[in-house]
Amino acid sequence: MQQEQENKIYKKILIITAPSGSGKTSIVRHLIKKFPQLSFSVSSTTRKPRPKEKEGVDYHFIDGDIFKKMIHNKEFLEWEMVYEGKYYGTPKSEMSRIWGMGKVPVLDLDVKGAIHVQQQYPVNTFVIFIQAPSLETLKERLQNRGSETPESLEARLNKSTYEMTFRKNFEHIIVNDDFDKACKEAESIVNTFLKS
Ligand code: 5GP
Repeated sequence: MQQEQENKIYKKILIITAPSGSGKTSIVRHLIKKFPQLSFSVSSTTRKPRPKEKEGVDYHFIDGDIFKKMIHNKEFLEWEMVYEGKYYGTPKSEMSRIWGMGKVPVLDLDVKGAIHVQQQYPVNTFVIFIQAPSLETLKERLQNRGSETPESLEARLNKSTYEMTFRKNFEHIIVNDDFDKACKEAESIVNTFLKS
């Protein structure tokens, strides 16, 4: 019985996806605090760390050559060039590390990455799409974050508009117009997923 329970947990993957600036990362953090069965899957990226970001906690910050080598060695579950010249990928080793602890990996992915993993693991993958209330709010959030140049802000807004068109691919959608409400909704969805 316990083995059966463990096998069920082993196979699960939870993905939180959303256009940039929709408040997804804060919701991911909230869920991980709330559910000890969840563990954050640390992606690898070639983008530079932002102030306060920590190596091995927020991302593994690696250079382009190492990233390419990892692609070549098939070390990624999925990878994308999320922004021009900036690569992001989910190392397979993160899945084994987290499944090995008997926990469920939580992946914070762009929309294409989410669809990609969903296609590879249609039965085990559960995706929640977080939607920002409007493009204006999105712009405000990204500006408040203070980490964008005018060019990167524009690139992120264009990408967000594009990513919003993929919303129909996802069964579970949360509109993040009120953070506490969005967290409660996410908790309820995750609760059902973990019990399934
Ligand atoms: P940021 O640069 O703001 O941390 O992340 C930019 C985007 O890349 C976000 O939408 C984030 O969810 C996504 N992302 C982070 N890690 C990965 C990954 O491993 N694979 C994919 N496909 N997207 C990722």
